[in-house]
Amino acid sequence: MSLSHERSKLATVTDAVIVGAGPVGLFQVFELGLLGLRAEVIDSLPVIGGQCIELYPDKPIYDIPAVPVCTGRELIERLHEQIRTFNPGLHLGQEVTEVVPRADGRFDVATSRGLRFDAGAVIIAGGVGSFQPRRLSVEGADRHEGTSIHYRVKDAARFVGKDLVILGGGDSALDWTLELADKAGSVVLIHRRAEFRAAPASVAKMLALCEEGRLDFMEGQVQSLVEQDGKLKSLRVLARDGVTRTVSLDQLLVFWGLHPKLGPIAQWGLQLQRRNILVDTARFETSVPGIFAVGDINEYPGKKKLILSGFHETALAAFAVKERLNPGEKVHLQYTTTSPLLQRRLGVSGERGASEGEERTAVRA
Ligand SMILES: Cc1cc2nc3c(=O)[nH]c(=O)nc-3n(C[C@H](O)[C@H](O)[C@H](O)COP(=O)(O)OP(=O)(O)OC[C@H]3O[C@@H](n4cnc5c(N)ncnc54)[C@H](O)[C@@H]3O)c2cc1C
Repeated sequence: MSLSHERSKLATVTDAVIVGAGPVGLFQVFELGLLGLRAEVIDSLPVIGGQCIELYPDKPIYDIPAVPVCTGRELIERLHEQIRTFNPGLHLGQEVTEVVPRADGRFDVATSRGLRFDAGAVIIAGGVGSFQPRRLSVEGADRHEGTSIHYRVKDAARFVGKDLVILGGGDSALDWTLELADKAGSVVLIHRRAEFRAAPASVAKMLALCEEGRLDFMEGQVQSLVEQDGKLKSLRVLARDGVTRTVSLDQLLVFWGLHPKLGPIAQWGLQLQRRNILVDTARFETSVPGIFAVGDINEYPGKKKLILSGFHETALAAFAVKERLNPGEKVHLQYTTTSPLLQRRLGVSGERGASEGEERTAVRA
Protein backbone atom coordinates (compact mmCIF):
# COMPACT_ATOMS: atom_id res chain seq x y z
CA MET A 1 0.00 0.00 0.00
CA SER A 2 1.73 3.21 -1.01
CA LEU A 3 0.60 6.68 -1.91
CA SER A 4 2.00 8.22 -5.05
CA HIS A 5 4.43 11.12 -4.78
CA GLU A 6 1.92 13.29 -6.63
CA ARG A 7 -0.79 12.60 -4.04
CA SER A 8 1.43 13.23 -1.03
CA LYS A 9 2.43 16.63 -2.50
CA LEU A 10 -1.18 17.74 -1.90
CA ALA A 11 -1.17 16.57 1.70
CA THR A 12 -1.81 18.77 4.75
CA VAL A 13 1.34 18.77 6.86
CA THR A 14 0.66 18.36 10.57
CA ASP A 15 2.27 17.22 13.80
CA ALA A 16 -0.35 14.55 14.44
CA VAL A 17 -3.41 12.99 12.87
CA ILE A 18 -5.98 11.79 15.38
CA VAL A 19 -8.23 9.00 14.14
CA GLY A 20 -11.56 9.45 15.94
CA ALA A 21 -13.38 12.44 17.42
CA GLY A 22 -14.88 10.71 20.45
CA PRO A 23 -14.26 12.18 23.91
CA VAL A 24 -10.74 10.79 24.03
CA GLY A 25 -9.75 11.94 20.54
CA LEU A 26 -11.02 15.43 21.39
CA PHE A 27 -9.07 15.61 24.64
CA GLN A 28 -5.99 14.38 22.77
CA VAL A 29 -6.14 17.65 20.80
CA PHE A 30 -5.93 19.53 24.10
CA GLU A 31 -2.96 17.59 25.45
CA LEU A 32 -1.06 17.99 22.17
CA GLY A 33 -1.98 21.67 22.05
CA LEU A 34 -0.50 22.28 25.50
CA LEU A 35 2.79 20.96 24.15
CA GLY A 36 2.58 23.25 21.13
CA LEU A 37 1.58 20.49 18.70
CA ARG A 38 -1.05 20.83 16.02
CA ALA A 39 -3.54 18.07 15.25
CA GLU A 40 -5.95 17.16 12.48
CA VAL A 41 -8.90 15.04 13.64
CA ILE A 42 -10.84 12.72 11.37
CA ASP A 43 -14.05 10.83 12.12
CA SER A 44 -16.27 8.65 9.99
CA LEU A 45 -19.36 10.11 11.67
CA PRO A 46 -20.76 13.46 10.51
CA VAL A 47 -20.57 14.85 14.07
CA ILE A 48 -17.99 14.81 16.85
CA GLY A 49 -18.55 12.89 20.09
CA GLY A 50 -18.20 9.16 19.34
CA GLN A 51 -20.23 6.89 21.63
CA CYS A 52 -21.33 9.81 23.85
CA ILE A 53 -23.28 11.33 20.97
CA GLU A 54 -24.21 8.23 19.01
CA LEU A 55 -25.26 6.00 21.89
CA TYR A 56 -26.23 8.11 24.91
CA PRO A 57 -26.43 11.87 24.21
CA ASP A 58 -29.09 12.54 26.86
CA LYS A 59 -28.01 10.07 29.53
CA PRO A 60 -26.22 11.38 32.62
CA ILE A 61 -22.54 10.55 33.24
CA TYR A 62 -21.48 10.68 36.88
CA ASP A 63 -17.80 9.70 36.82
CA ILE A 64 -16.00 12.55 35.08
CA PRO A 65 -13.66 14.07 37.70
CA ALA A 66 -14.95 17.39 39.08
CA VAL A 67 -18.13 17.19 37.01
CA PRO A 68 -20.73 15.63 39.34
CA VAL A 69 -23.11 15.04 36.45
CA CYS A 70 -23.39 15.90 32.77
CA THR A 71 -25.03 14.27 29.77
CA GLY A 72 -23.06 12.71 26.93
CA ARG A 73 -23.88 15.73 24.79
CA GLU A 74 -22.82 18.22 27.46
CA LEU A 75 -19.50 16.45 27.91
CA ILE A 76 -18.77 16.70 24.21
CA GLU A 77 -19.84 20.35 24.08
CA ARG A 78 -17.45 21.15 26.94
CA LEU A 79 -14.58 19.24 25.34
CA HIS A 80 -15.24 21.04 22.06
CA GLU A 81 -15.09 24.37 23.85
CA GLN A 82 -11.92 23.37 25.69
CA ILE A 83 -10.04 22.53 22.47
CA ARG A 84 -11.34 25.45 20.39
CA THR A 85 -8.30 27.55 21.29
CA PHE A 86 -6.05 25.03 19.50
CA ASN A 87 -8.15 25.27 16.34
CA PRO A 88 -7.76 21.65 15.24
CA GLY A 89 -8.72 20.61 11.72
CA LEU A 90 -11.96 18.60 12.08
CA HIS A 91 -12.67 16.37 9.10
CA LEU A 92 -15.96 14.57 9.60
CA GLY A 93 -17.98 12.08 7.62
CA GLN A 94 -14.91 10.26 6.35
CA GLU A 95 -12.96 7.24 7.45
CA VAL A 96 -9.20 7.08 7.75
CA THR A 97 -8.49 4.34 5.27
CA GLU A 98 -4.69 4.34 4.91
CA VAL A 99 -1.81 4.94 7.31
CA VAL A 100 1.53 4.33 5.65
CA PRO A 101 4.85 4.75 7.51
CA ARG A 102 7.51 6.53 5.43
CA ALA A 103 11.26 6.08 5.39
CA ASP A 104 11.72 9.53 6.99
CA GLY A 105 9.68 8.46 10.03
CA ARG A 106 6.57 10.43 9.08
CA PHE A 107 3.24 9.00 7.92
CA ASP A 108 1.10 9.34 4.83
CA VAL A 109 -2.53 9.26 5.90
CA ALA A 110 -5.52 9.11 3.55
CA THR A 111 -9.27 9.29 4.07
CA SER A 112 -12.22 7.80 2.23
CA ARG A 113 -12.99 11.26 0.79
CA GLY A 114 -9.52 11.65 -0.65
CA LEU A 115 -7.96 13.93 1.96
CA ARG A 116 -4.21 13.42 2.46
CA PHE A 117 -2.06 14.21 5.46
CA ASP A 118 1.67 14.21 6.05
CA ALA A 119 1.83 13.55 9.80
CA GLY A 120 4.66 13.32 12.31
CA ALA A 121 2.60 10.85 14.35
CA VAL A 122 -0.74 9.09 14.20
CA ILE A 123 -2.89 8.69 17.29
CA ILE A 124 -5.71 6.21 17.00
CA ALA A 125 -8.66 7.11 19.23
CA GLY A 126 -11.03 4.90 17.29
CA GLY A 127 -13.08 3.59 20.22
CA VAL A 128 -14.98 0.47 19.28
CA GLY A 129 -14.31 1.21 15.63
CA SER A 130 -15.93 3.19 12.92
CA PHE A 131 -19.71 3.46 13.31
CA GLN A 132 -21.54 2.15 10.27
CA PRO A 133 -25.29 2.24 9.65
CA ARG A 134 -27.04 -1.14 9.79
CA ARG A 135 -27.97 -1.62 6.18
CA LEU A 136 -31.00 -3.16 4.53
CA SER A 137 -29.84 -6.59 3.40
CA VAL A 138 -32.24 -7.41 0.59
CA GLU A 139 -31.24 -8.04 -3.00
CA GLY A 140 -30.43 -4.82 -4.88
CA ALA A 141 -30.46 -2.46 -1.86
CA ASP A 142 -26.84 -1.37 -2.43
CA ARG A 143 -27.66 -0.26 -6.01
CA HIS A 144 -30.07 2.37 -4.70
CA GLU A 145 -27.98 3.64 -1.80
CA GLY A 146 -27.66 7.42 -1.94
CA THR A 147 -30.29 7.79 -4.70
CA SER A 148 -33.48 6.30 -3.26
CA ILE A 149 -32.26 4.46 -0.14
CA HIS A 150 -30.73 6.58 2.64
CA TYR A 151 -29.17 5.77 6.00
CA ARG A 152 -28.68 9.42 6.98
CA VAL A 153 -30.50 12.60 6.10
CA LYS A 154 -27.99 15.00 4.63
CA ASP A 155 -30.54 17.35 3.07
CA ALA A 156 -34.16 17.09 4.24
CA ALA A 157 -35.31 19.31 1.35
CA ARG A 158 -34.96 16.43 -1.12
CA PHE A 159 -37.82 14.59 0.64
CA VAL A 160 -40.37 17.42 0.40
CA GLY A 161 -43.49 16.29 -1.50
CA LYS A 162 -42.16 12.72 -1.92
CA ASP A 163 -43.77 9.44 -0.89
CA LEU A 164 -41.54 8.16 1.89
CA VAL A 165 -41.14 4.90 3.72
CA ILE A 166 -39.16 5.07 6.96
CA LEU A 167 -37.83 1.91 8.60
CA GLY A 168 -36.97 1.71 12.31
CA GLY A 169 -38.27 2.10 15.84
CA GLY A 170 -35.60 4.19 17.57
CA ASP A 171 -35.21 7.92 18.09
CA SER A 172 -33.84 8.68 14.62
CA ALA A 173 -36.70 6.85 12.88
CA LEU A 174 -39.37 8.55 14.99
CA ASP A 175 -37.74 12.00 14.89
CA TRP A 176 -37.57 11.96 11.09
CA THR A 177 -41.07 10.52 10.80
CA LEU A 178 -42.42 13.44 12.83
CA GLU A 179 -40.22 15.99 11.09
CA LEU A 180 -41.24 14.88 7.58
CA ALA A 181 -44.90 13.97 8.22
CA ASP A 182 -46.21 17.34 7.03
CA LYS A 183 -43.51 18.04 4.45
CA ALA A 184 -43.53 14.77 2.49
CA GLY A 185 -46.29 13.69 0.07
CA SER A 186 -46.90 10.70 2.35
CA VAL A 187 -45.04 8.83 5.09
CA VAL A 188 -45.29 5.16 6.04
CA LEU A 189 -43.33 4.11 9.13
CA ILE A 190 -42.49 0.41 9.18
CA HIS A 191 -41.14 -1.34 12.28
CA ARG A 192 -40.97 -5.05 12.98
CA ARG A 193 -43.05 -4.72 16.14
CA ALA A 194 -45.33 -2.29 17.93
CA GLU A 195 -42.83 -1.60 20.74
CA PHE A 196 -40.42 1.26 20.13
CA ARG A 197 -37.03 2.23 21.57
CA ALA A 198 -37.73 5.91 20.85
CA ALA A 199 -38.74 8.49 23.47
CA PRO A 200 -42.32 7.79 24.63
CA ALA A 201 -43.37 11.36 23.76
CA SER A 202 -42.29 10.83 20.13
CA VAL A 203 -44.16 7.53 19.95
CA ALA A 204 -47.30 9.19 21.33
CA LYS A 205 -47.04 11.99 18.73
CA MET A 206 -46.56 9.48 15.92
CA LEU A 207 -49.64 7.49 17.00
CA ALA A 208 -51.66 10.71 17.23
CA LEU A 209 -50.64 11.63 13.66
CA CYS A 210 -51.72 8.14 12.53
CA GLU A 211 -55.11 8.71 14.18
CA GLU A 212 -55.42 11.98 12.26
CA GLY A 213 -54.57 10.17 9.03
CA ARG A 214 -51.41 12.23 8.51
CA LEU A 215 -49.13 9.17 8.36
CA ASP A 216 -49.32 5.38 8.41
CA PHE A 217 -47.67 2.87 10.67
CA MET A 218 -47.17 -0.74 9.64
CA GLU A 219 -45.80 -3.62 11.69
CA GLY A 220 -43.76 -5.76 9.34
CA GLN A 221 -40.46 -6.63 7.69
CA VAL A 222 -39.18 -5.77 4.23
CA GLN A 223 -38.83 -8.90 2.11
CA SER A 224 -37.75 -7.50 -1.25
CA LEU A 225 -37.50 -4.44 -3.48
CA VAL A 226 -39.53 -3.92 -6.63
CA GLU A 227 -37.78 -1.98 -9.42
CA GLN A 228 -39.06 -0.50 -12.63
CA ASP A 229 -36.63 0.70 -15.32
CA GLY A 230 -33.83 0.42 -12.76
CA LYS A 231 -35.66 2.66 -10.28
CA LEU A 232 -36.95 1.62 -6.87
CA LYS A 233 -40.75 1.65 -7.08
CA SER A 234 -42.04 -0.27 -4.07
CA LEU A 235 -41.28 -2.64 -1.22
CA ARG A 236 -42.74 -6.08 -0.55
CA VAL A 237 -43.41 -6.14 3.17
CA LEU A 238 -44.38 -9.18 5.23
CA ALA A 239 -46.88 -7.68 7.66
CA ARG A 240 -47.51 -8.89 11.20
CA ASP A 241 -50.77 -10.59 10.08
CA GLY A 242 -48.75 -12.85 7.74
CA VAL A 243 -49.87 -11.10 4.54
CA THR A 244 -47.23 -9.72 2.15
CA ARG A 245 -48.17 -6.21 1.01
CA THR A 246 -46.72 -3.90 -1.60
CA VAL A 247 -45.88 -0.40 -0.39
CA SER A 248 -45.00 2.06 -3.13
CA LEU A 249 -42.53 4.86 -2.54
CA ASP A 250 -40.22 7.47 -3.98
CA GLN A 251 -37.61 7.36 -1.22
CA LEU A 252 -36.71 4.91 1.55
CA LEU A 253 -35.05 6.02 4.79
CA VAL A 254 -33.56 3.30 6.97
CA PHE A 255 -32.79 4.08 10.62
CA TRP A 256 -31.75 0.79 12.17
CA GLY A 257 -28.98 2.30 14.25
CA LEU A 258 -25.23 2.07 13.93
CA HIS A 259 -22.83 -0.72 14.65
CA PRO A 260 -19.09 -0.37 15.16
CA LYS A 261 -16.62 -1.96 12.76
CA LEU A 262 -12.86 -1.97 13.36
CA GLY A 263 -12.66 -1.43 9.62
CA PRO A 264 -9.40 -0.30 8.00
CA ILE A 265 -7.53 -0.03 11.35
CA ALA A 266 -7.18 -3.83 11.22
CA GLN A 267 -5.09 -3.49 8.04
CA TRP A 268 -2.42 -1.13 9.39
CA GLY A 269 -0.05 -3.86 10.60
CA LEU A 270 -0.57 -3.17 14.32
CA GLN A 271 -0.38 -5.89 16.93
CA LEU A 272 -3.95 -6.60 18.02
CA GLN A 273 -5.50 -8.56 20.84
CA ARG A 274 -8.99 -9.53 19.78
CA ARG A 275 -10.29 -6.23 18.35
CA ASN A 276 -8.05 -3.98 20.46
CA ILE A 277 -4.64 -2.45 19.77
CA LEU A 278 -1.83 -3.45 22.13
CA VAL A 279 0.08 -0.51 23.61
CA ASP A 280 2.69 0.12 26.30
CA THR A 281 1.54 2.07 29.33
CA ALA A 282 4.35 4.63 29.40
CA ARG A 283 3.80 6.09 25.93
CA PHE A 284 0.63 4.40 24.66
CA GLU A 285 2.55 3.55 21.53
CA THR A 286 1.54 0.59 19.38
CA SER A 287 3.79 -2.07 17.86
CA VAL A 288 4.53 0.42 15.04
CA PRO A 289 6.71 3.30 16.32
CA GLY A 290 5.02 6.65 15.81
CA ILE A 291 1.49 5.19 15.88
CA PHE A 292 -0.21 5.59 19.25
CA ALA A 293 -3.58 4.33 20.50
CA VAL A 294 -5.69 5.85 23.27
CA GLY A 295 -9.18 5.31 24.68
CA ASP A 296 -11.45 2.33 24.22
CA ILE A 297 -9.49 0.96 21.27
CA ASN A 298 -6.32 0.09 23.18
CA GLU A 299 -5.43 -2.85 25.39
CA TYR A 300 -2.88 -3.27 28.19
CA PRO A 301 -2.85 -5.08 31.51
CA GLY A 302 -5.54 -3.61 33.75
CA LYS A 303 -7.22 -1.58 30.99
CA LYS A 304 -10.60 -0.14 31.95
CA LYS A 305 -12.74 1.26 29.14
CA LEU A 306 -13.67 4.48 30.87
CA ILE A 307 -13.51 8.05 29.64
CA LEU A 308 -11.23 9.08 32.50
CA SER A 309 -8.74 6.30 31.64
CA GLY A 310 -8.67 7.60 28.06
CA PHE A 311 -8.02 11.15 29.24
CA HIS A 312 -4.98 9.99 31.25
CA GLU A 313 -3.67 8.08 28.24
CA THR A 314 -3.83 11.19 26.02
CA ALA A 315 -1.48 13.12 28.32
CA LEU A 316 1.22 10.45 28.16
CA ALA A 317 0.76 9.91 24.44
CA ALA A 318 1.16 13.67 23.85
CA PHE A 319 4.49 13.72 25.70
CA ALA A 320 5.65 10.72 23.68
CA VAL A 321 4.67 12.41 20.40
CA LYS A 322 6.52 15.59 21.45
CA GLU A 323 9.65 13.55 22.22
CA ARG A 324 9.37 11.77 18.89
CA LEU A 325 9.11 15.04 16.98
CA ASN A 326 11.96 16.65 18.96
CA PRO A 327 14.44 13.80 19.42
CA GLY A 328 17.03 14.30 22.12
CA GLU A 329 15.13 17.17 23.79
CA LYS A 330 13.66 16.57 27.20
CA VAL A 331 9.99 17.49 27.46
CA HIS A 332 9.28 18.93 30.87
CA LEU A 333 6.05 18.89 32.74
CA GLN A 334 4.48 22.28 33.35
CA TYR A 335 1.34 23.40 35.14
CA THR A 336 -1.38 25.34 33.37
CA THR A 337 -1.84 27.23 36.65
CA THR A 338 1.64 28.72 36.65
CA SER A 339 3.26 28.36 33.23
CA PRO A 340 3.15 31.55 31.12
CA LEU A 341 3.97 29.47 28.04
CA LEU A 342 1.05 27.09 28.55
CA GLN A 343 -1.22 30.04 29.28
CA ARG A 344 -0.11 31.74 26.08
CA ARG A 345 -0.82 28.56 24.14
CA LEU A 346 -4.21 28.41 25.82
CA GLY A 347 -4.84 32.02 24.90
CA VAL A 348 -5.68 32.89 28.51
CA SER A 349 -2.76 35.18 29.35
CA GLY A 350 -2.15 38.71 28.16
CA GLU A 351 1.42 38.49 29.38
CA ARG A 352 4.32 38.03 27.01
CA GLY A 353 4.76 34.29 26.88
CA ALA A 354 7.93 32.43 27.55
CA SER A 355 9.98 31.14 24.65
CA GLU A 356 10.58 27.46 24.10
CA GLY A 357 13.95 27.96 25.86
CA GLU A 358 12.27 29.48 28.88
CA GLU A 359 9.82 26.58 28.85
CA ARG A 360 12.63 24.23 29.60
CA THR A 361 14.00 26.31 32.43
CA ALA A 362 10.74 27.32 34.13
CA VAL A 363 9.70 23.80 34.84
CA ARG A 364 8.69 21.42 37.51
CA ALA A 365 10.56 18.15 37.27
C1 LIG B 1 -24.52 3.41 27.04
C2 LIG B 1 -23.11 3.75 27.45
C3 LIG B 1 -22.89 4.45 28.62
C4 LIG B 1 -21.59 4.78 29.02
N1 LIG B 1 -21.40 5.45 30.20
C5 LIG B 1 -20.13 5.77 30.60
C6 LIG B 1 -19.90 6.46 31.83
O1 LIG B 1 -20.84 6.75 32.57
N2 LIG B 1 -18.61 6.75 32.17
C7 LIG B 1 -17.54 6.40 31.37
O2 LIG B 1 -16.39 6.71 31.73
N3 LIG B 1 -17.73 5.74 30.20
C8 LIG B 1 -19.00 5.41 29.80
N4 LIG B 1 -19.19 4.73 28.63
C9 LIG B 1 -18.01 4.36 27.84
C10 LIG B 1 -17.49 5.59 27.06
O3 LIG B 1 -18.51 6.10 26.22
C11 LIG B 1 -16.27 5.20 26.26
O4 LIG B 1 -15.26 4.80 27.15
C12 LIG B 1 -15.78 6.40 25.44
O5 LIG B 1 -16.74 6.83 24.49
C13 LIG B 1 -14.50 6.03 24.68
O6 LIG B 1 -14.11 7.16 23.98
P1 LIG B 1 -13.18 7.03 22.66
O7 LIG B 1 -12.96 8.44 22.23
O8 LIG B 1 -12.03 6.16 22.98
O9 LIG B 1 -14.06 6.21 21.62
P2 LIG B 1 -15.48 6.47 20.94
O10 LIG B 1 -16.36 7.30 21.81
O11 LIG B 1 -15.97 5.12 20.54
O12 LIG B 1 -15.14 7.32 19.63
C14 LIG B 1 -14.35 6.74 18.62
C15 LIG B 1 -14.59 7.47 17.33
O13 LIG B 1 -13.65 7.00 16.36
C16 LIG B 1 -14.28 6.96 15.10
N5 LIG B 1 -13.52 6.04 14.21
C17 LIG B 1 -13.18 4.75 14.42
N6 LIG B 1 -12.45 4.27 13.40
C18 LIG B 1 -12.30 5.29 12.53
C19 LIG B 1 -11.66 5.43 11.26
N7 LIG B 1 -10.96 4.43 10.67
N8 LIG B 1 -11.74 6.62 10.64
C20 LIG B 1 -12.41 7.66 11.18
N9 LIG B 1 -13.05 7.58 12.38
C21 LIG B 1 -12.99 6.41 13.03
C22 LIG B 1 -15.69 6.49 15.42
O14 LIG B 1 -16.61 6.87 14.39
C23 LIG B 1 -15.97 7.21 16.74
O15 LIG B 1 -16.64 8.44 16.56
C24 LIG B 1 -20.48 4.39 28.22
C25 LIG B 1 -20.69 3.69 27.02
C26 LIG B 1 -21.99 3.37 26.64
C27 LIG B 1 -22.21 2.62 25.36
